[in-house]
Amino acid sequence: MADIYLFDVDGTLTPAKSKINPFFQQTFLSWMQDKEVYIVSGGSFTRLLDQLGIEIMNHTSGVFACMANTFYQKRDQINPICANEWNLIYENKFVPPKNLTRSLRSYVSKSDYHTKTGNHYENRTGMINFSIVGRNATAAQREQYAVYDSEKKERERIAGKLKEKYSDLDFVIGGAVSMDIFYKGNDKSQVVKRYFNEALKNNRLHFVGDRIAKNGNDYALAKVLRRRKNGFAYEVETWEDTAALLKTPPFA
Ligand SMILES: [Mg+2]
Repeated sequence: MADIYLFDVDGTLTPAKSKINPFFQQTFLSWMQDKEVYIVSGGSFTRLLDQLGIEIMNHTSGVFACMANTFYQKRDQINPICANEWNLIYENKFVPPKNLTRSLRSYVSKSDYHTKTGNHYENRTGMINFSIVGRNATAAQREQYAVYDSEKKERERIAGKLKEKYSDLDFVIGGAVSMDIFYKGNDKSQVVKRYFNEALKNNRLHFVGDRIAKNGNDYALAKVLRRRKNGFAYEVETWEDTAALLKTPPFA
């Protein structure tokens, strides 16, 4: 039975949305040499490349980006002659159900919040990102809305109403001002049904993340893995915790 390792990035291998610590980058690189390692992150492939560096990316067996709504593998995993090229193995397109964008527009116009900057929903890989204040907001305007929302719980209220209307969608409050809207199950846990289902029969799968608690973006995958005999999830708070974890079994 072999070991397969999956890592979240923000808060697990790097500080949130920042580059990896250069010393840890080297430690992680030498640790991963003889291991089967995958990345499972909410970030886009290009952002992950920037955060982790090309060497770590090249030594993975695959990269699940955008909440595992896209999966990339280096071509030499499939064909050694085409090394250094990445293949897009799958990508989930988000096709909004009828009337969803109309509902979103009506929540924007009905909201009592005073500043609406436009660009209220953005189609991303596998999801829509929605905000009342709008994506054109300045940092100060975003901050103001975050204060308003923490008092009025506007996002929570809207998400609750939308959930009643669109039962096959998830509405997840993320960041300070927006919510992510996607089809149920299109979170990090989809790596199991899409890719590791067979592997879990004869291999141990270890997932390390910093948001494994309920409502965190690692929760769904941790839950699915912990239900399986060979699945394990480990919670860390920082990349320093991960560095320490790598020195202990079953990582060392
Ligand atoms: Mg994280």
